[in-house]
Amino acid sequence: MSSVALATAAFAGLAANAQEEAGTQKAERDHSSSDPGQENKPLLDENPSSNLPPPTDQGDIGPIWYSFNLVHKRVQQGGWTHEVNQRVLPTSRDLAGVNMRLTAGSFRELHWHTADEWAIMLYGNARVTVMNPDGTMFIDDVGKGDLWLFPAGFPHSIQGLGPDGCEFLLVFDEGNFSEDGTFLLSEFVAHTPRNVLMKNFGLGKDAIAKLPKQELYIFPAALPLSLAQDKAAVGGRRVESPIQYTFKMSAMTPTRKTPGGEVRIVDSRNFPVSKNVASALVTLKPGALRELHWHPNASEWQFWIAGKGRMTVVMNEGRARTMDFNANDVGLVPRVAGHYIENTGDTDATFLEMFKADQFIDVSLNNWLRRVPPEAVSAHLNLDQELIAKIPPEKELVIPG
Ligand code: MN
Ligand code: MN
Repeated sequence: MSSVALATAAFAGLAANAQEEAGTQKAERDHSSSDPGQENKPLLDENPSSNLPPPTDQGDIGPIWYSFNLVHKRVQQGGWTHEVNQRVLPTSRDLAGVNMRLTAGSFRELHWHTADEWAIMLYGNARVTVMNPDGTMFIDDVGKGDLWLFPAGFPHSIQGLGPDGCEFLLVFDEGNFSEDGTFLLSEFVAHTPRNVLMKNFGLGKDAIAKLPKQELYIFPAALPLSLAQDKAAVGGRRVESPIQYTFKMSAMTPTRKTPGGEVRIVDSRNFPVSKNVASALVTLKPGALRELHWHPNASEWQFWIAGKGRMTVVMNEGRARTMDFNANDVGLVPRVAGHYIENTGDTDATFLEMFKADQFIDVSLNNWLRRVPPEAVSAHLNLDQELIAKIPPEKELVIPG
């Protein structure tokens, strides 16, 4: 084919695409999109963008939404746990989330696991402990908005405090992580021969007979002593961890504050133990927009804490999907995929952007369009220089509604 023929063929292809697009847009708005058969009305009311997608949506990008309200809740005396991982959200290959409740005094049993554990307190108070392999010990109390990070393999515990225990979100840096697959103190002793336990602990038969025969996992217990008393009881300063494993995220000065809301970024730069998990806690006022952006280094695992919003994820090959989000929902954005989040409710929307990365990194579309020479932007977007100059030049993170 000559170059002219090639160009003509390419143009015809473009024209056909444009025609198809216009047809789709019309179909989505006329009788073609009517649905006289069965519907799950409550579910569709929660997700109008999925029920009738905006005409800009196209093709399939895989699931970008799930909810903790759809997974099995493992309820035990002392609390409960449930998880959203790759099993239910196959696109989430990097991170998995667990939501857990412990009543006052109740323990999440002493345990350890293959993944790093990042956590944010959503309600109440808890005492956490983690031991470094060198025997130095970290013990702290956490409240709403506080974080902790337990490295893979480091033994740790969580106990609900007064007045009403706690609820928290755990994020693990393995997409297929399951909270049911952790290594438990009770199982280590239950499955080691008794004569070996006697030798190891230097204890007699009667003492060994008292040890649990099966997993404890979550179980009720008495409230602990004060933090100072507990620290003193294990050896005080002499055994104190030189490393800080908790962080007060809601008390920190926002990394960015605009009339539209605020963003708090916590990663290895300000919370050094968080080497493999980076986070941003975003609050959007009604109508505000988390600006068009993408993340060069990792996929985004999102957890919705409050309010409601709408997100579109735009992939390569012209694929795009829009979904609505409510509290307790999980969102997923593939690495480098463009996206925005808009607060569509009449209260503040608060959510976490989580990454399997040492740093939170994002590229702002506005910022880029103001750094590229204006004539290049004009050539691409058909905007004259006067209009280009109206685009916010800097990365705002949050744009007011
Ligand atoms: Mn754990
Ligand atoms: Mn993002």
